[in-house]
Amino acid sequence: ITSVELTRASLDRIKAHNPTINAFLHVDEEGALATAREVDEKRAAGENLGRLAGIPIAIKDNLVIRGMPTTCGSKMLEGWLPPYDATVITKIKNAGMPIVGKTNMDEFAMGSSTEFSAYGSTKNPWDTERIPGGSGGGSAAAVSAFMVPLALGSDTGGSIRQPGSVTGTVGVKPTYGAVSRYGLIAMASSLDQVGPVARTVADAAALQEVISGHDELDSTSLDVEVPAFEDIVAQVGADRVKGLKIGIVEQLSADGFEPGVEAEFEATVKRLEDAGAEVVNVSLPSFEYALSAYYLIMPAEVSSNMARFDGMRFGLRAEPETGPVTAERVMAESRGQGFGAEVKRRIILGTHVLSSGNYDAYYGAAQKVRTLVQRDLDEAFSKVDVLVTPTAPTTAFKFGEKIDDPMAMYLNDLATIPANLAGTPGLSVPCGLSEGMPVGFQILAPAYRDDLMYEVAAAVEA
Ligand code: GLN
Repeated sequence: ITSVELTRASLDRIKAHNPTINAFLHVDEEGALATAREVDEKRAAGENLGRLAGIPIAIKDNLVIRGMPTTCGSKMLEGWLPPYDATVITKIKNAGMPIVGKTNMDEFAMGSSTEFSAYGSTKNPWDTERIPGGSGGGSAAAVSAFMVPLALGSDTGGSIRQPGSVTGTVGVKPTYGAVSRYGLIAMASSLDQVGPVARTVADAAALQEVISGHDELDSTSLDVEVPAFEDIVAQVGADRVKGLKIGIVEQLSADGFEPGVEAEFEATVKRLEDAGAEVVNVSLPSFEYALSAYYLIMPAEVSSNMARFDGMRFGLRAEPETGPVTAERVMAESRGQGFGAEVKRRIILGTHVLSSGNYDAYYGAAQKVRTLVQRDLDEAFSKVDVLVTPTAPTTAFKFGEKIDDPMAMYLNDLATIPANLAGTPGLSVPCGLSEGMPVGFQILAPAYRDDLMYEVAAAVEA
């Protein structure tokens, strides 16, 4: 099959199903086909191309691509055309991957259901009355609905893994710093990480290989060698978990998890045990406070990152209807019209926790919890190779169920947040169905050991 055929098939599928699923905010048919043609020509000329050359991919709408609309799911950036490529996009382009379009998301990546997108929610392909997860519901739904084999997402508190969990796709948050954040529109910079969305563990591994690597343009980028993840997965049979020590996080089992999710999780652990892994219980006391710490640190960073959307530099500019047109009033009007309720909620929360009278009590305390989470994980990883949890407390819930209750929405992130606070890698792999809806199995590994996570995930998939 040629890349043009493959890309056409992807575009046809998008045309047929995007009107119901709403996974794509923008489709670039011409651009994708041009790349595909180029790859086919090079291949015909006998050029040696990388393993993902010619494979179409979708990109979450918070990664900038030169000249292609990038909205972050917000009215604030409507009509804005980025003047440059994110580093991951340069890598995707160099790898010869046709970019078919930009995917829907919760506004500025804040949410767990895509219901906070200013362009309508994305539907879960398994049941269109249910959410596809968030914030990267568009990328997950696009892969889940066979519109594209691969997509990119971003994960600040679970936005790649939780959508993966509820749409039956593989979602990976690499080690913090493994993938460049240059050109990722920042949500909470110390937590954000770009990562793959795929249908299989091997596909995700191949994509992580392409997007990883040191980048001078990102000061938090790690200068370490990128392992051949796909080779690791290719060598893995279920017996590779033999002798591995797997820890079940006590604080992230039973309470708060739906019985159907818990049952699939336990059955999967049992399979790993049968394959020769040693399973032990691990207690990480700080995990009980991780969610609270995240919902202080994240909005603090959000409030400062959102300051750049001032109605002057990018996107929307709105003038007050009456009274003088001062810079301050234009900013207030633009931000008032441009941002949705959830973004505003977090800006207010963030500025509150950073204000001088509250800083120590909230932000300072949360930073201490963050250190404890890192220490708990360090200690756990001195005893076990990987930790496992259900990725999300429930399968995909119905639209509207949690939208008016921020606390209920935030609880989705219970199991995914610790890895963001610690900067360690996390992966969600489908492990079964509960009442017909997919359940995700999360694997957490020590920093720089993304390879271990892929090994265990391949065994779960086997
Ligand atoms: N659900 C989380 C939040 O709303 C995850 C966000 C993310 O990872 N981008 O903050």
